[in-house]
Amino acid sequence: MEEKKKDVLISVRGLKTYYPIRKGVFRRVAGYVRAVDDVSFDVYRGEILGVVGESGCGKTTMGKSILRLIPAHSGQVLYNFPDGEKDILKMEKAEMDEARQKMQIVFQNPYSSLNPAYTIFGTMQEPLIRFGMKNKAQRKEKIAQLLKDVNLPEDCMQRYPNEFSGGQRQRIGIARALSVDPEFVICDEAVSALDVSIQAQVLKLLKELKEKKNLTYMFITHDLSVVEYISDRIIVMYLGHIVEMAPTQELFENTLHPYTEALLSAIPVADIDQRRKRIPLQGDVPSPVNPPSGCPFHPRCPKCTERCKTEVPKPVTLIHNGHEHMVCCHLAQTTKSE
Ligand code: SF4
Repeated sequence: MEEKKKDVLISVRGLKTYYPIRKGVFRRVAGYVRAVDDVSFDVYRGEILGVVGESGCGKTTMGKSILRLIPAHSGQVLYNFPDGEKDILKMEKAEMDEARQKMQIVFQNPYSSLNPAYTIFGTMQEPLIRFGMKNKAQRKEKIAQLLKDVNLPEDCMQRYPNEFSGGQRQRIGIARALSVDPEFVICDEAVSALDVSIQAQVLKLLKELKEKKNLTYMFITHDLSVVEYISDRIIVMYLGHIVEMAPTQELFENTLHPYTEALLSAIPVADIDQRRKRIPLQGDVPSPVNPPSGCPFHPRCPKCTERCKTEVPKPVTLIHNGHEHMVCCHLAQTTKSE
């Protein structure tokens, strides 16, 4: 994606999602799980923004907080509607219900995201009814077109979810998400439960649909190969924080954060000459209840210094080869800025 075209669809500012930990007879709040801790970024209209990180890094919570499927603790999610910018987190219920038409989500598990008691028509007509399509013949016509868009035959409508393979169910999940003509879609580990060959087909379909329907995606995954294939830009998350953000090629060719370096070094590559030296990460992601002092990555960082243990690194945006490249690491600030 061209860096020049910066038509911002969503601005996330200082978003925090904390879960209270309650203890004792009176269930008093004894602390918080800091699942998402002060993240800020823009989503540009028409792009595919990848969000990557290990399990528990807060990427899914962040996506759901943006859509208000999980309540955020504080911050802003400024959505650029045709009649002006509005904060999703402050909208009244009626206004929010209407706004949901613009924002949809495709979930990870195609086995549990479809109701087994409903035919595909029954499942897919629900959002259409909710957003005002009262005429059954119109709904049928719309669903037939949606199924065609995801390369499934029209007669799927009368069948039940258990009659489909995982890849077909995920296509149905995508068709359902697109049924209300959204402009922003979060794909939350949307291909993770599928076999590799089916993954490739669904990723290709998502790309085609994005072009055809002028969509903007946030693509959440733990799989760097997937995010490299599909994304225009990538956010790398660690322990609820954004540690690096750059256009895809820039991130892969000029990696600045030691955590991203370690993730990239673990990608399996067939060509032995292209392989990066494996950087093993020590231990697990620390608890977001009691995050480490200083840089949250310091207990696992192979480049940790004394400064890293006490001082939180501030995000810095560098310009490299004409691209904005944000990183949150003391070393990047001193050695790689241009
Ligand atoms: Fe590693 Fe220090 Fe950079 Fe954190 S600030 S990633 S600990 S070098």
